[in-house]
Amino acid sequence: RIAAVDDTIHAFLHVAADEALETAASVDALRAAGGAEAESLHPLAGVPIAIKDLIVTKGQPTTAGSKMLKGWMSPYDATVVEKVRAARMPILGKTNLDEFAMGSSTEHSAYGPTRNPWDITRIPGGSGGGSAAAVAAFEAPLALGTDTGGSIRQPGAVTGTVGTKPTYGGVSRYGAIAMASSLDQIGPVARTVEDAALLHEVIAGYDKKDSTSLSETEYPEGKIPTFSSAASTKTAAGLRIGVIKQLQGEGYQSGVLARFHEALDQLRQAGAEIVEVDCPSFDYALGAYYLIMPSEASSNLARYDGVRYGTRVVPEEGPLTIERVMGATRAAGFGEEVKRRIILGTYALSAGYYDAYYGSAQKIRTLIQQDFDAAFEQADVLISPTSPTVAFPLWEKLDDPLAMYLNDIATIPANLAGIPGISVPGGLSEGLPVGIQFLAPAKEDARVYHAAGALE
Ligand code: GLN
Repeated sequence: RIAAVDDTIHAFLHVAADEALETAASVDALRAAGGAEAESLHPLAGVPIAIKDLIVTKGQPTTAGSKMLKGWMSPYDATVVEKVRAARMPILGKTNLDEFAMGSSTEHSAYGPTRNPWDITRIPGGSGGGSAAAVAAFEAPLALGTDTGGSIRQPGAVTGTVGTKPTYGGVSRYGAIAMASSLDQIGPVARTVEDAALLHEVIAGYDKKDSTSLSETEYPEGKIPTFSSAASTKTAAGLRIGVIKQLQGEGYQSGVLARFHEALDQLRQAGAEIVEVDCPSFDYALGAYYLIMPSEASSNLARYDGVRYGTRVVPEEGPLTIERVMGATRAAGFGEEVKRRIILGTYALSAGYYDAYYGSAQKIRTLIQQDFDAAFEQADVLISPTSPTVAFPLWEKLDDPLAMYLNDIATIPANLAGIPGISVPGGLSEGLPVGIQFLAPAKEDARVYHAAGALE
């Protein structure tokens, strides 16, 4: 399937057919041999998976969608990759993304955009457009993504796939190339809610290599809930669902709102009680995100200095100083959007401006967390459209960063608060998929699977 369609879709940056076939054959051999080892195979053993190229893999290149890491091979596997290998899931290859996961369309990839399988003149969302498109185009049944401000959920919405952003700390970030460390989270991309839940179970859990990782004892009842059984409940009976007043209406396409209201009707019929919740600080979420995220990124990306990793550009003339090598390397290695954010972040963190920008943004972050706390007293889960629009045409927003940033208006609050979210298909508008988002309190990821399963 990859050979048949990926010249057009361009979901993959690297295909590892031989490695995947080898893993698949080993699972077949184990099954054929029978016995205890065959019995103990994970339910997803032999099911292929694609990995966003922001997650490091031993033996396969990792580029982060950037020229900066062109040809770079990680000497180690990310923890999630180790877990996927332990479950004997064949790794099909690495998927395209906006450079260093900065974007909402994959147009910022240094290797060219991915196309939306529903309409190849349109974007597949971003930054994880490659993972979402690979699943939507039947090139892979499952994929991994990363979500810093919506990069799993928004591509899920515009490609008609399911994507989950787990609770912050619920899945190890070890081996996910850092963008904004207090917001980044790895999560599953799938075609159904149950598939996403099964994959989430494979990758979840404490990891001593990630200092922000949650231990089992921090979860309610001292263990990680089984997401797949929550996903298969298929009822909304008794569920209190809160409609977030601030995440609908102006700025949302009428077709998106029409599908959203149908989803509410469907949930009501399935037994849910629908209430409205007020989250006034959400009006400032986008502003706070675009200060915090670039600030953290400007620090994280300092490691690309032309010495330690990947690309190194030496100026042709003049003295060979560290500043000049670093300058030439970064000028050539980073794309426009990455440079824009490094400059924004460096400015926001600079002495004299730190309190005015970064400090204010952190205060907004606290207010958003308080809005969520209050909302979750009235509702078990919250609901909104995942994205204000369906997939837009390629190149339409590329030169307008603010228009691009506005795509994440509904997904960003969850990252600022560290809570779990899912996007699940909610029908079509003008032939293109619309996504519905559910949010739950931290460590209550099972609730988003329960609610999304009821809508599916
Ligand atoms: N689109 C958002 C951004 O550009 C989110 C990216 C992400 O989640 N990695 O920052």
